[in-house]
Amino acid sequence: MQKIIVDKPFEQDWIRMFTHLANLFFEQSKVINDPAEEGIHIDISVDKDEDGLLRGNATLKQDDNEYSATFTEQETSDGSETENRQLKRIYSHVFLEVLEQFTGMKQSWGILTGIRPMKLYHKYRQMGNDRETVKQLLMDKHRISEEKSELLETIERVQLGAIPDLHELKDEVSIYIGIPFCPTKCAYCTFPAYAIHRKNGRVESFLDGLHEEIREIGSWLTKRDIKITTIYFGGGTPTSIEAEEMDALYQTMYDSFPYMKEVREVTVEAGRPDTITQLKSMS
Ligand code: SF4
Repeated sequence: MQKIIVDKPFEQDWIRMFTHLANLFFEQSKVINDPAEEGIHIDISVDKDEDGLLRGNATLKQDDNEYSATFTEQETSDGSETENRQLKRIYSHVFLEVLEQFTGMKQSWGILTGIRPMKLYHKYRQMGNDRETVKQLLMDKHRISEEKSELLETIERVQLGAIPDLHELKDEVSIYIGIPFCPTKCAYCTFPAYAIHRKNGRVESFLDGLHEEIREIGSWLTKRDIKITTIYFGGGTPTSIEAEEMDALYQTMYDSFPYMKEVREVTVEAGRPDTITQLKSMS
């Protein structure tokens, strides 16, 4: 366990943010605010001057070595980011940079620790930025490498092939349907997934609830005349349930959701080959 001692009593969600970043470098880390503890000490701050310039600083001290990082940018005023989000991003920026200097490890995804980097890419594109500007924003504001920034651009081109009006879709929704069961739970998995022991009727009661939710969402969308762009069955491993159970879900989906003929794509994640049967592949 690598202890990282920060110089302020940050709130819990900030500590979580720092811990996620620290975990990019260490197998397990704990971020605390106790100067008496032994570990890696990081002094970190963001100051604002009278012109609204935000300056982030981080200094890491360990034995006789010292590493420091600075990042400066203007306070956001175009509403694209809340003040809290911008501060978190600047803190993350300098926190990551001193750890990169200290460990010698470069994080190619920069300060991103979530699972949907394309969301960020699309946000910048929907704000009207061209691809070159988005690439620069990803590299400068989020410390994403040039290679990964270009990968996101490639993915966007592929996505636009399937949905050419992706950035203009404002009044539509996409639907994610989660089925949190897998044949077994993989040791490394952080998704909400449970081994599908068909005991006590818990799979059946989950599916009953899911049918109900699909009907309710369908009725909500129908009343408001909202179209669906894509539907994604994810998990877990949706194909862990029986073929008849999957068919029943598709039936409820077709009966409940509006404009099903106009949905561009329906995807069913089938990440575990041991769950696929001929019947399920024809469902
Ligand atoms: S198959 Fe995927 S979702 Fe299921 S336990 Fe393994 S990693 Fe998690």
